[in-house]
Amino acid sequence: MNRPGSFQYSDCGAGRMYGSPRPRKERDADLGFKSLNSLRHSRSRQVEPTRGLGQGPTLDHRHKRFEEACIHPKKIYLLKIQNPIFICCLATYGYGCKRDVASGEPTMRKSLAAAMIAISLCSSAIAAEYPVHGITFIVPFAAGGPTDTVARAIAGSMSKSLNQPIIIENVAGAGGSVGVGRAVHASPDGYTLSVGNWSTHVINGAMYTLRYDLLNDLEPIARLPSAHQLIVARKGVAANTLSELVAWMKGRTTLVGTAGVGSASHIGAVLFQSETGARITPVHYRGTAPAMIDLIGGQIDVMFDQAANSLPQVRDGAIKAYAVTSAARLQTAPDIPTVDEAGLPHFYVEVWHGLWAPKGTPPHVVAKLNAAASEALGDPLVRDRLTVLGLSFPDPADGSPAALGALQKSEIAKWWPIVKSADIKGE
Ligand code: ASP
Repeated sequence: MNRPGSFQYSDCGAGRMYGSPRPRKERDADLGFKSLNSLRHSRSRQVEPTRGLGQGPTLDHRHKRFEEACIHPKKIYLLKIQNPIFICCLATYGYGCKRDVASGEPTMRKSLAAAMIAISLCSSAIAAEYPVHGITFIVPFAAGGPTDTVARAIAGSMSKSLNQPIIIENVAGAGGSVGVGRAVHASPDGYTLSVGNWSTHVINGAMYTLRYDLLNDLEPIARLPSAHQLIVARKGVAANTLSELVAWMKGRTTLVGTAGVGSASHIGAVLFQSETGARITPVHYRGTAPAMIDLIGGQIDVMFDQAANSLPQVRDGAIKAYAVTSAARLQTAPDIPTVDEAGLPHFYVEVWHGLWAPKGTPPHVVAKLNAAASEALGDPLVRDRLTVLGLSFPDPADGSPAALGALQKSEIAKWWPIVKSADIKGE
């Protein structure tokens, strides 16, 4: 018999729902409040005391709610308070399970108070602790290409300031929309982020029927460096200037390598075709890194490729460069003329990059990621590594999540009508 005013662990409703009350001994075993040894020998024999969170329930029991909570106290010790959410939720859950035996009523007010305290403890613990494990950057193009290069440079520095590893996952296909979709549908907890660019986070909305909304399903984190394109060709092309290249392309069907329908390299090629009348046949790859292999090998003729990918090959003499799609020459490649100098005035293509999280990512996580990204953009090692590849860095004044969101919005307003009227979707 329990004394009035004391508490006992109840079945928390689940027991009443699923069957008659069971002996205290059994219930304790289910909740994992017994010693490791007796737990092993209890009827819950299938519980593996060493299993971790997220490895799925192993307790063969009708009371499903208990299965998730059935972590032995030793397990909690082993967690070393690495998972504050779990600790707080378990505390709330346990306290909420108590009932006043005298009245038989659940201690609702106390449970609510406990829940609120636990939640507030949780949020401050999460705010202080994020990130507690590795983060994944989803790069929507092949490894080794321009977006991948930016992502890896930034990730290296961000992982130092966040004190967690950052894994790059290349999820390529459909002009990057497969990878962006993967990130959009990930849990909004700051552990899966989307690295993308002007094409994946602006152009694709006009090219594809996406299963996500580029503005409403993503949380902007930070703007990342930009790159202009180089107009490059395989070594054997018999043209030494941009005008000669245009003439050469008019005389034949030119195979132009792209990073996929709607990618920056594709849009550059299509704009070039409508500007010059050159005939192009796009050959789509999963990024310009694999396309570059074929350009060097002579399987394709021309590419509109970001300097980060093609400049090393131009420097090695493996391919030819005709112009850079910017108003000024690249400091790091001053021999390559601008499009204005090469006879194609104002043919400017600039590919900016960015970092996004799934919609609903908590503001303090967004802020922490933004701070880490800003730090990375100021890191001299990152700056040197990307500047030499022809990338330029955003003004720190444009470093906020809101600035990236505004840029994306204004670029959508500018480019969607152009892309739609050019009718360049889905070859
Ligand atoms: N972003 C692509 C890549 O990383 C290139 C492109 O869009 O042109 O391969």
